[in-house]
Amino acid sequence: MSLSFSFCVKGNVCVDTGAQYIHGASEKNPVYCLLKKSGHLNQIPEMGKETFYSNKGHKVDANFARCAYEAGEEIIRYRGSNTGRSLGEHYAEKTQSVIDSLQDDDEKPRMQSVFALVGKDMLIDVGASDLHRISLDSWQYYINMGDSLNDFPKDRLLLKREVSKIKWDGSFSVYPVCVICENGEEILADHVIVTISLGCLKAQASSLFIPSLPTEKMEVIDKLCFGNIAKIFLEYKEAFWENDVGSISLIYEDDTPVSVSTNKMQWLKNVQSFSVLRPKERLMLYQMTVKFSPKSILCTKWRSSKFIKGSYAFLPVGVDGQVMDTLAQPLVGSRHPPDQILFAGEATMKTLYGTVQGALLSGHREADRLAAHYKKTTSLDKQV
Ligand SMILES: Cc1cc2nc3c(=O)[nH]c(=O)nc-3n(C[C@H](O)[C@H](O)[C@H](O)COP(=O)(O)OP(=O)(O)OC[C@H]3O[C@@H](n4cnc5c(N)ncnc54)[C@H](O)[C@@H]3O)c2cc1C
Repeated sequence: MSLSFSFCVKGNVCVDTGAQYIHGASEKNPVYCLLKKSGHLNQIPEMGKETFYSNKGHKVDANFARCAYEAGEEIIRYRGSNTGRSLGEHYAEKTQSVIDSLQDDDEKPRMQSVFALVGKDMLIDVGASDLHRISLDSWQYYINMGDSLNDFPKDRLLLKREVSKIKWDGSFSVYPVCVICENGEEILADHVIVTISLGCLKAQASSLFIPSLPTEKMEVIDKLCFGNIAKIFLEYKEAFWENDVGSISLIYEDDTPVSVSTNKMQWLKNVQSFSVLRPKERLMLYQMTVKFSPKSILCTKWRSSKFIKGSYAFLPVGVDGQVMDTLAQPLVGSRHPPDQILFAGEATMKTLYGTVQGALLSGHREADRLAAHYKKTTSLDKQV
């Protein structure tokens, strides 16, 4: 189950330009628990009714679309293991056998176009532009979530510091690590947990670290892909759609699942669904006609944002999820203490990448790593 939420503050609408869904709304999910504890779950509005329209302008039978969509999802959510194949190849093959098995010839193209919609939704989930680039083995390590959260010591938080260099394995006063900020400030530390996005690592890893990252780490940063997705928010004075509608999915009648990818020349075809945001009097949706022109438009630009440079990681064909373990490996310096530079963030979690809870749990993992190190050191000290 996924939850989606948006907030309304003092009559103005706040929208989630980035992460919006809690994937896996259960007590096992630390993000869910965090929101529950803070009382924010009460603010999540009911999702409205799902609707489907074809690009020819007519409403598609919701039962048919829902059944076809579920059949497509079952195929596309397959967890491959060491197949070395692409998701696109698998999806085209399996959906074709479903289509071939249909008795009613009229149903075949309708089914194909719904399968294509499932493929496009998957591109959004993964942040990739072509199903044929995504590894079929992408989710072989995915797991259920666990753990609860401890409160974060807010007084220890330093905000608005852009890091320009991380010097490690050195001797700065008594510390091995020195973080240099854009404003000239220097922060000395025993350990640094680097959580910048994979997109930022791709752009800056070669110049950010002194000494440079090991070759193996640089190769992993290069191999992994960092996708990009965009959200377009349209605000209308009044809703022009049915009252109880929560989403409108567009089914392109000539689409097939054979090669689902984003084509720059046909970008409109990849605007495949609209979500109606709540509360109702603040509706936003996509629809660019003169008759229903929006009051305001907001478009995200994550790829060009200096501090993220995309959306989230995905595994390209031929790259095993275990490379994320390599990305997560700490840098061990020659000086004490070991594990001076640690790595967290969604791209370091082969079991939950691309999600907020993955990012959060990767932080727990590194905190646990340090805690274990100090526990071990302390007990050793005691023995000595
Ligand atoms: C449009 C969109 C929709 C999404 N929807 C969902 C969703 O519904 N559900 C879900 O679970 N996930 C969703 N995600 C994914 C989710 O947002 C990410 O997986 C998660 O935010 C990753 O967290 P992170 O801590 O790894 O990285 P980030 O959130 O990228 O955090 C990295 C931090 O490093 C900072 N930084 C970068 N460079 C520097 C520097 N030089 N100096 C100092 N700081 C720096 C950045 O400012 C940023 O604060 C979505 C993402 C996008 C873009």
